[in-house]
Amino acid sequence: MTFNMGSFRKGQSPWNKGIKGTHFSPETEFKKGQKSINHLPVGSITIRKYYKRNLSPKRWIKIAEPNKWIMYTVYLWQKNIGNIPADKILHHINRDSLDDRIENLCLVTRAEHINIHRADLEKNRVCRRKYNIPIEHLRAVVNGRMTHSGLAAIIGCSVGNIYHHIRMLRKKWKQGIVI
Ligand SMILES: [Zn+2]
Repeated sequence: MTFNMGSFRKGQSPWNKGIKGTHFSPETEFKKGQKSINHLPVGSITIRKYYKRNLSPKRWIKIAEPNKWIMYTVYLWQKNIGNIPADKILHHINRDSLDDRIENLCLVTRAEHINIHRADLEKNRVCRRKYNIPIEHLRAVVNGRMTHSGLAAIIGCSVGNIYHHIRMLRKKWKQGIVI
């Protein structure tokens, strides 16, 4: 008869008997009313990436407990300049969405803002295909921060389309066109 050390024999208790529902590392557990390990204090700044929504990354700051965050640009503007009218939003003048210096910010209406970025998109268009893929996203693929298939999934186009756009972009760079 072979004796199987790992088998479960009648009359024997399963290894986890009596500890079902027990947790293995109580010191790392989150208890109600207790601050989690990820808790960030007021004044903390993080960068949100928005790849799925096709937006540029932006800095946010925590301004109150338990979890109130606002865009860092808004925080800086209110602190240094004043209130932001309800029909206006802040725009990064040099198009770098992480350059939050006050001199790089200006107030525009939503309609103006859409027009500014639409004009940019046309100017930076690498080819005439149906999908106009944002240049920052193409750069992210070139720099290895995003995969071809990852970007294709975000845009909702084929991977081949991404390869095509990258080729067109490299061609422009080779011609000395900076976009
Ligand atoms: Zn803008």
